[in-house]
Amino acid sequence: MKQIQQPIYRKIVVKVGTNVITSRNGELDIEILESLTSQIALLHKKGIQVILVSSGAVGAGRSLVKPSRSLTPVAARQVLASTGQIKLISTYNELFAQKGLITAQILVTKSDFRDRLHYLNMQTCFTALLQQKIIPVVNENDAVSVTELMFTDNDELSGLIASMMDVEGYIILSHVDGLFDLSRDDGSVISEIDPSTRHFHQYISPGKSEFGRGGMLTKCHIANKLSRLGITVHIANGRKPGILLSLLEGEKTGTKFIAQKTTHGPKRWIATSEGLEKGAVTVNKGAETALVADVRANSLLPVGVVSIEGSFMKGDIIKIYSEEKSVLGYGMAQYGSEKTRSVMGQKDQKPLVHYDYLYLTP
Ligand code: GLU
Repeated sequence: MKQIQQPIYRKIVVKVGTNVITSRNGELDIEILESLTSQIALLHKKGIQVILVSSGAVGAGRSLVKPSRSLTPVAARQVLASTGQIKLISTYNELFAQKGLITAQILVTKSDFRDRLHYLNMQTCFTALLQQKIIPVVNENDAVSVTELMFTDNDELSGLIASMMDVEGYIILSHVDGLFDLSRDDGSVISEIDPSTRHFHQYISPGKSEFGRGGMLTKCHIANKLSRLGITVHIANGRKPGILLSLLEGEKTGTKFIAQKTTHGPKRWIATSEGLEKGAVTVNKGAETALVADVRANSLLPVGVVSIEGSFMKGDIIKIYSEEKSVLGYGMAQYGSEKTRSVMGQKDQKPLVHYDYLYLTP
């Protein structure tokens, strides 16, 4: 296997999709898994910290059980995921053990990212595992995450982990080579995407992947968001031999989302909290102008709040709307909805969201 001399990242999240690690007959593809785990082991030897997010539980479950037709689709998926996850993780465990590495299994739900305390607990756990030189292998807890409590897909989940763990690179391994330039018919891949890019439809041919949940469009949106927070994202073909080593060596392969200036700490949590908010406030024009002003960072004051939705507590994420109902951003509330209701519209009150805990959508 090829070696790497000068790795370009020290800490990465690698996400592998179901289509990468499953063969046509629906079984786990041991050859690919062997190749990916060997590459990760090599990176590990070079001192690179790797968090692996792997889909494939539902796929692996399909090769083990045939859910009864009397089950609802949700229950059938729960059966497949909970049986398949054991097969998936034991395969990783065995393959990493052969290379002298210890594997940890972490199963998460979307709610774990909603609550600041859970979020910090997860962060502590990942940090401790990496410090102990253990490879965390993460998946969604599909047995209990159903419908609205689910992540859109594992791309979203891995993006949240990449941001939480402050990694330098987030690598999405898919079964395609990257984003294609649809204006050309030679099948060429777009090698770099600027953080200012918005309209990804132009690079994506319609249709979704065969087995996994995620599509290319969600991958692009997450990649774009993370690149704006300062994380470089790569979408590359996980079935290409030596792909991780090539990427870490700095070779141009797949599509790279160039990182912008870095955002840290709570701001990162808030910036990736879309869909995790507990409530919302609408602000008037004056407050909107103050918030989006370029000259200085302003906090959100109750005087500008015109309405409140939902019930939130101190420390919860809230969504901020303009009067026209466009989303201005997200923030961490400094006090709950009840108190906000009692002080909204009033001057000289403590900020509802301090600017250090405010993320404005670009
Ligand atoms: N968590 C799901 C699984 O392990 C995959 C979700 C996705 O495809 O992104 O099967």
